[in-house]
Amino acid sequence: MTLEGKLLIGQQAVEGSRVAIRATNPATGERLEPGYPGGTQDDVERACELAWTAFDTYRETSLEARAGFLEAVADEIEAIGDALIERAVAETGLPRARVQGERGRTCGQLRLFARTVRAGEWLDVRVDPALPDRQPLPRADLRQRHVALGPVVVFGASNFPLAFSVAGGDTASALAAGCPVIVKAHSAHPGTSELVGRAIQAAVEKCDLPEGVFSLLFGSGREVGQALVTDPRIKAAGFTGSRSGGLALWQAAQSRPEPIPFYAEMSSINPVFLLPAALEARGKALGEAFVGSLNMGAGQFCTNPGLVIAIKGPALDDFVAAAGEAVEASAAQTMLTPGIFEAYESGVAALAGSDRVRDVARGRKGEEPNQCRTGLFATSAEDFLASETLQAEVFGSTSLVVECSDAAELARVAEHLEGQLTVTLQMDDADLDAARALLPTLERKAGRILVNGWPTGVEVCDAMVHGGPFPATSDSRTTSVGTAAIFRFLRPVCYQDMPDALLPEALKAHNPQGLDRLVDGRREG
Ligand code: NAP
Repeated sequence: MTLEGKLLIGQQAVEGSRVAIRATNPATGERLEPGYPGGTQDDVERACELAWTAFDTYRETSLEARAGFLEAVADEIEAIGDALIERAVAETGLPRARVQGERGRTCGQLRLFARTVRAGEWLDVRVDPALPDRQPLPRADLRQRHVALGPVVVFGASNFPLAFSVAGGDTASALAAGCPVIVKAHSAHPGTSELVGRAIQAAVEKCDLPEGVFSLLFGSGREVGQALVTDPRIKAAGFTGSRSGGLALWQAAQSRPEPIPFYAEMSSINPVFLLPAALEARGKALGEAFVGSLNMGAGQFCTNPGLVIAIKGPALDDFVAAAGEAVEASAAQTMLTPGIFEAYESGVAALAGSDRVRDVARGRKGEEPNQCRTGLFATSAEDFLASETLQAEVFGSTSLVVECSDAAELARVAEHLEGQLTVTLQMDDADLDAARALLPTLERKAGRILVNGWPTGVEVCDAMVHGGPFPATSDSRTTSVGTAAIFRFLRPVCYQDMPDALLPEALKAHNPQGLDRLVDGRREG
């Protein structure tokens, strides 16, 4: 497929008229063709109007039709074949195997949402039949289901060109909920975005859906992104990226005459607690395994372990020595964009330049452009508690070890943490009491608590929570990975004394869809 460098508005391919965005191959510095001229206010207007026009039809498509559409999107993405992998590798510098795996995850999550849509549990149907003879007052007939919020804007993420971008988790969950989607492509991988956008366009046409179900815009976040988030026809947005970008767009969403939910996933340093018995028993092995997690994807994962917390002593020294050795042996890795590489370098320089921080080890220097060196630093709990900047995310493969004098100080560090996507406990049976004591704090801090694993690698499934208190996300009540993500784009509506002929299928007396419903307090299926 030849890339055209155009905006995809409904079924049209439209030439943008702002400065063209050109991807750079971060591994070589080569500028990639074609250019993608950015969209304008008029393009935003057209995409929003189409999405709004499509909304009432799309949200009432049958469960089967909507599930079939999600599956068609997955099929169309697979049908692009190697061209998608090659372009994504060129635009991101990510290894081929990683991009292939990400395509599998992207198509897998679309199909998982298709299964979720068909099962219909997300409608969360509740029926409280009328009780006309109830004393002292009769009860009306009350029926609840969930409906789609409206058109949704999705901001593609830099670090997952497929799984968190044009047809990624935010798009899949919004489409599953019945919301048309307008994607603001990430400027780092416009060609990958166009290929996937065209696959969704093709699926929309094949499934005979209104064209406004999907649009893809290129352009600057400050112009196109802000215009999308503030358009009155947009009813929610999903974002993955920096804390500053997320907060700017969240602010715009909240300042509208009609504020809307803005689901931003922004910043997390994913602390790992090494509890004493585990550290004593396997400090060296933990050090080596930890660096494996730290180096995954050049550390460009939102779940990268950026902080290690433990009680100081010989066992922690063993961990630090083993981790330091593994860091020194770590090859430099290409980062996603020159901008992300520069941000990494300045984050590392801030740590290295702090008189509160000790430089433990640095990985091998890169010979090619935009290659990051792994980094490991250490600080005392006292210094960590005294410096807010030591909690800042360094996006990339650098981590900070916080050495505590005792369990009480370790608990103070845990209490001091900002909200996180994940917290990890490395523990043995003898650590059970220590873990139990920490758990209430950790539940307040994080969306996912892991034991004896590493936070990188997020399973896409029903039970996953990829969320957490601010600043990990802007709304801790939800997840952006897994089937529960659908609830971000739904709201409940109650129908009181509505004639059966007017009720939506899900609420009709004879339950034509065979849904699992809560009727008068009991499950009916
Ligand atoms: P970013 O700069 O936040 O950009 C993400 C998206 O938001 C882009 O589409 C961008 O538009 C838009 N945007 C940014 N600032 C905006 C503003 N003030 N108003 C409106 N739109 C705005 O994130 P990034 O490019 O992915 O990476 C930069 C940094 O983000 C990284 O160095 C890292 O620190 C962090 N990051 C964190 C995670 C995580 O999961 N925690 C993931 C990725 C990145 P443009 O196209 O105009 O840039």
